[in-house]
Amino acid sequence: CGIVGYIGEKNTTKVLLDGLKELEYRGYDSAGIALLNAKGIDVYKALGKLENLKQKTKDVLQKEFTLGIGHTRWATHGKPTELNAHPHLGEYSYVVHNGIIENYKELKDELIEQGHKFVSQTDTEVIVHLFENINNKINDSKQAFKDTISKLKGAFSILLVSKAAPEKIFFFKHGSPLIIAKGNEQKEILFSSSDAPLIGLCKEVVYLEDEVGGIASADGIEFFSNNYTWSTLPESKQYAQK
Ligand code: GLU
Repeated sequence: CGIVGYIGEKNTTKVLLDGLKELEYRGYDSAGIALLNAKGIDVYKALGKLENLKQKTKDVLQKEFTLGIGHTRWATHGKPTELNAHPHLGEYSYVVHNGIIENYKELKDELIEQGHKFVSQTDTEVIVHLFENINNKINDSKQAFKDTISKLKGAFSILLVSKAAPEKIFFFKHGSPLIIAKGNEQKEILFSSSDAPLIGLCKEVVYLEDEVGGIASADGIEFFSNNYTWSTLPESKQYAQK
């Protein structure tokens, strides 16, 4: 239902939790975040109110992370359970997703046949296994992400992080909303499925068009195509007090 992502020097855990708070109005049944630093990926998920996720992440608030992704889920495939909450894990990558992967069943069957182990009942989990399945064969995370997207049918906005590309967030939009923003601080990038979490944190945004994706890192954003335009978040929204 809602997506947030962050690359930057602020407290990643706090930025993500604050962002998810701003998306609460859209409704959700569970929430989760994945946080990355040089040591690896930490993941926290909780059923019900965001407050439950906050409780679980209390002790990591002081830990330093360079980037992270977060999600509030409104279940379409698989019951609202902690296991079905996003981010979803493969062997070394995590994904958050809004929307529906219509051909997930075929993809899942193929991946299971090739030895992938699924732990959730969601449509979303196929994305991360498909990405790793391809990446394991070609050892090229960018191409693997593109190939993954080309196999998905349905509506989706996606953020994916992987130990195969530790300082990066892969993103793509097809049918569900996704915004990428340059933060007010240097080398800061934010993602959100609606502009509420971005208010006060950025001025320049791209309301992504369908079929636009790319890779973001502290060094900048690489778009896979040219069909995107930077625009300014309306003034009233930029400076609104949270
Ligand atoms: N279809 C996915 C699920 O059921 C994503 C739902 C959403 O957009 O929150 O987990």
